[in-house]
Amino acid sequence: MSNDHSFTEEQKQFLSGFAFGSDVARAVSGLPIISNSVSKSTSISVGRNTADATEKLPVPERIAWEAQQRVLDEGKQLCKEEEAKRQKNPLDMWDEMQLRSDAGEFPKGTDVFLQKFHGLFYVAPAQDSYMCRMRIPGGSLRAWQMRGLADLSERSAGGFIDVTTRANLQYREIPADQAMNILYGLRELDIVSLGSGGDNIRNCTASPLSGLDPCELIETIPLAKRMHHYILNHREMYGLPRKFNIAFDGGGSVSALDDTNDIGFHAVQITKETSSETIAPGIYFQLTLGGITGHKDFARPTGIILTPDECIAVAGAIVRVFVKNGDRTDRKKARLKYVLDEWGFERFIQAVESELGTNLRRGEIDPTDLPHNENRLAHIGVHPQKQPGLHYVGVVLPVGRITADQARGLSDLAEIYGNGELRLTVWQNLLIPNVREADIENVKTALVEMGLHHDASNVRAGLVACTGRGGCKFAASETKTHAMILAEALEARFDLDQPINIHLTGCHHSCAQHYIGDIGLLGCKVERDEDMVDGYHVHLGGGWGDRQGIARLIFSSIAFDEVPNLVAEVIQFYLDNRSEQEAFVTF
Ligand code: SF4
Repeated sequence: MSNDHSFTEEQKQFLSGFAFGSDVARAVSGLPIISNSVSKSTSISVGRNTADATEKLPVPERIAWEAQQRVLDEGKQLCKEEEAKRQKNPLDMWDEMQLRSDAGEFPKGTDVFLQKFHGLFYVAPAQDSYMCRMRIPGGSLRAWQMRGLADLSERSAGGFIDVTTRANLQYREIPADQAMNILYGLRELDIVSLGSGGDNIRNCTASPLSGLDPCELIETIPLAKRMHHYILNHREMYGLPRKFNIAFDGGGSVSALDDTNDIGFHAVQITKETSSETIAPGIYFQLTLGGITGHKDFARPTGIILTPDECIAVAGAIVRVFVKNGDRTDRKKARLKYVLDEWGFERFIQAVESELGTNLRRGEIDPTDLPHNENRLAHIGVHPQKQPGLHYVGVVLPVGRITADQARGLSDLAEIYGNGELRLTVWQNLLIPNVREADIENVKTALVEMGLHHDASNVRAGLVACTGRGGCKFAASETKTHAMILAEALEARFDLDQPINIHLTGCHHSCAQHYIGDIGLLGCKVERDEDMVDGYHVHLGGGWGDRQGIARLIFSSIAFDEVPNLVAEVIQFYLDNRSEQEAFVTF
């Protein structure tokens, strides 16, 4: 765990050779690293004659390299993360990470950033350990994988697993010398972490009830998996200027929050009445772009309508246009939204079409074509599936964390009473699908025995919290702990007939998407008695989908010990003044 170890002279030589592309590194790694002459020429000839260097790059790497070069040719400076990627291809760090892990060391300097490309986040000073984020496309995994993850968490991490707001899983408290054991262990479980952090396309999400939901228009988990494998097998997908999110929503009862993604594919049903000359009746996806709620923007419709089998190629082309044209000088402006803001949708779509070599289908979506099936409580509790006699059980995971024992217990339930599958949701919880009616009570009892539950109050069902100070250096507050305290306080006072989403996020990065919560809490420090204490800026009125809206800042810098009372007063005001069972966000 300590950071005091240092490399041996031999290791140092190796690492410095690797960093600058020595023959040693190439010989040992055997990987398709950026050629030596390229790396050397980088430091010498940046902004000058790099034609020779560029030619030696494989085509996928060349796309990002040329985008960086254009910035330099314009006399501008790359941001430090772009410089780091230009000096060392993050995908070629395997041997270096192995040596570091063997030496029990954590990375230093820009290597902290570069290792995130492998899913390894050194989270100091919050903790002197790694966090490892996986990729679980569509949130779907098998019970044997979850059981293996439980064992691995005990061997090499903190003995627990976190479910994230991208229907994904994370380990925490990984000592330096266990980093590679974690990566080996994941690969042995058929789970990859490559590209789960850094400037990459993050876990591809889908509607968690894909294939089960009586009201969905189309299954989306197969599309999320296809996108996942496309990314893994196209190296230019790792050359982005910044992170990137893709979601597929099949129009069913549990949202994939596609409107908060850089690319959202939202299922629509075009009927005979609303079809046109160019669009025949059928199920399509509406393409939306530019969602980034931390920057107060939802993905907006582009006017492009796609058949399901067109989505992956179009997403690939969108990413390539972004790789070529995203901002590489300013991290704050490096997301897709800013390319769209500068270019406008039409120019961007034309660039995508030219990348694809074909025109895309344009058309207006009639509002009646959009599904309105969302049920804000459908991710919790027992619900019938489209398959007669089968149900899924939505399990409440308090702020998304489960112990290794609970993970094994859930795996057992999925195998004994379901079909061996588990599904994660963006609401930081998990579903056990395909449970027969006769087995429902057994599942409920077993959940309670393992300290979990199938039922949640209307406060806890929509409670989302980012990692917070317990494991993130950016956090201004202890979000997960505060979320539990807040939920208890509100449950003691209210029995709500409507769900109210409360999202707690520790900093402006907005991992828990405070801007789309009915009540969104953004961590901050508040001065009290000449001391600084944990507090929150309180935002109200956010929403997504049919009730889309960016929450507005209403109360600034409230110390956390005052937050439960303040939120209770807000809820009481809502209850006293709403009409009928009006939802919080429309109030
Ligand atoms: Fe860390 Fe900020 Fe993300 Fe919370 S929102 S996990 S504090 S980066």
